[in-house]
This record gives sequence, structure tokens and C-alpha cells, in this order.
Amino acid sequence: MKVLASLAFLWVLTVNVRAADSDSIRIVKDVEMIWQSEFNEEEKTRIRKIMYTFAVQGQRLLGKYPYKLRFYIRRYDADWGPLLGCYVKFGEAVRGVYLGVDMGYPTADFLSSWKVPHEVSHLALPALGTQNSWFYEGFATYMSRQIMKANGHYTADQCDSIYRQKFAEVKPDFDQDGTFLSVILGQTANYNYSAFYWGGASFFYRADEILNSKHNTNLCAVVKTYQKSQRLDDKNLLMVIKSWDAIVGADVFSSLMREYRNVEARTVMSRF
Ligand SMILES: [Zn+2]
Repeated sequence: MKVLASLAFLWVLTVNVRAADSDSIRIVKDVEMIWQSEFNEEEKTRIRKIMYTFAVQGQRLLGKYPYKLRFYIRRYDADWGPLLGCYVKFGEAVRGVYLGVDMGYPTADFLSSWKVPHEVSHLALPALGTQNSWFYEGFATYMSRQIMKANGHYTADQCDSIYRQKFAEVKPDFDQDGTFLSVILGQTANYNYSAFYWGGASFFYRADEILNSKHNTNLCAVVKTYQKSQRLDDKNLLMVIKSWDAIVGADVFSSLMREYRNVEARTVMSRF
């Protein structure tokens, strides 16, 4: 039984990962599937294939997480798209990605959705508290597209134009008096999801630009190093920002955060 499971595991790896290198194998070994509904073996194989794809691409980009990546899978038959009711939990005992899946949809529909890479990205950060949801949703929104790009779903140019187009779409939501932080907190309180997800993502887009142009690195490389250093020790946003600055060796994130806290929202978004 154990041999069969390993063979299935290797088969899934080779069909999903271009080179089943040691990194990918290490990552997949620490992925765990928890079935919260009844699934037959064929369905389980399909779901594993999809989750391994995103678990591997996500952690190749953001670093191997210093804990098991658990997927809690339950069935949906609502005909509302392949994935529904997706979220993450950060607690030690219940940390993981929770997904509702509708098996009526083809595998390609799951692979072209941003939802799994979005939820996987969340776990690269500690729990930061709902008052900082603009930051962690912005991070997951930005990183989900980076993972999809790494997965071959977008070219670099396509990815960049998606960011630019989304920032342009939410720009009117930031054309009001107040600092970026006060305006985005207002958008969060009003459940204007596109505004605070993409407004938040602009922080990470800007950080990546600065890291590329001035520090010869990029955001994924910083986050990758972070998994091996402070990921399990940091308890709040300030600690994360300090850790990331320390990795770069410059105050990239703290000075950008100062701008987002103090500068008018419309001025911050006028860069896009
Ligand atoms: Zn999210």
C-alpha cells in the first residue's frame, strides 16, 4: 500500500513539475490532504494533482514553509465555479488552506483560477489581525499572480498588464481626501473587496519595483529567505516589516509603509 502511494505520488510529481527536483520533492512530502467529504480515488488523484501544482510553484517562489501545508477539502455541488468558500486558518493546530471543490468542473478550470495560489500565499505570512487585512489580502492578491506566472499561466508582460489594469480600475476608489491607509481602511469597512485587495497589492508591486531597481533582488527572494528566518517568530505587521528590511539590508518596506500611512491616497495611486 505504501509503495503504491509513493508511486502515485511520483506520478503526480512528474506530470505537474517540469523537473521533479529535490526542492519539489521536499515540498510535496510536506503537503497533506485532509478529506472533509467523500471523494472517490479518481477524484482524489485529480485534486492532489491540482494542489501539488500550486503547493510546489508557491513554495518554489516564496520558500518552503516551515510547517506542513495542509489542504482541507470539502465537496460543493452548487455549479458556481470550481472553487467556493476558500479561506486559510493560521492557528498552530488548524493551520491550512480550506477549499470547497466542485468536481463537475474540468482540471483546467481549477488551474486557471487564482483562488488556490491566493490562499497558499497567505501562509507565507503570520496571522496579522483583521485590522491589517488590506496588507495580507494585498500580499495574497499580488503573489497569486506571481505563482500563476511561474506556472506558465501568464507571461511576465501579461502579468504586469493585469496588475496595471487592476490598479487603474480601483484608482477612482482612492480619489478621495485622506491618507492611503485611512482610505483603504474605509474601503475594507465597506466590503469594497476589489479596492482593498488591489489597493493593497499596489504596496507589493511598488516594493518589487524598488527591490529590482535599487537592490538587485525581488520580493519573492525576500519572502523566500524570510521562511528560513523569522517566519515562525514574527507576531505582528511591524515585526514582518522589520524582518524584511533586515533581509534586504535597507529600509525599503518601512519607508514604503510610512508613505502608505502618511501620504494622500490619490497621490499614492497616481503612480499607476
Ligand atoms: Zn485572502
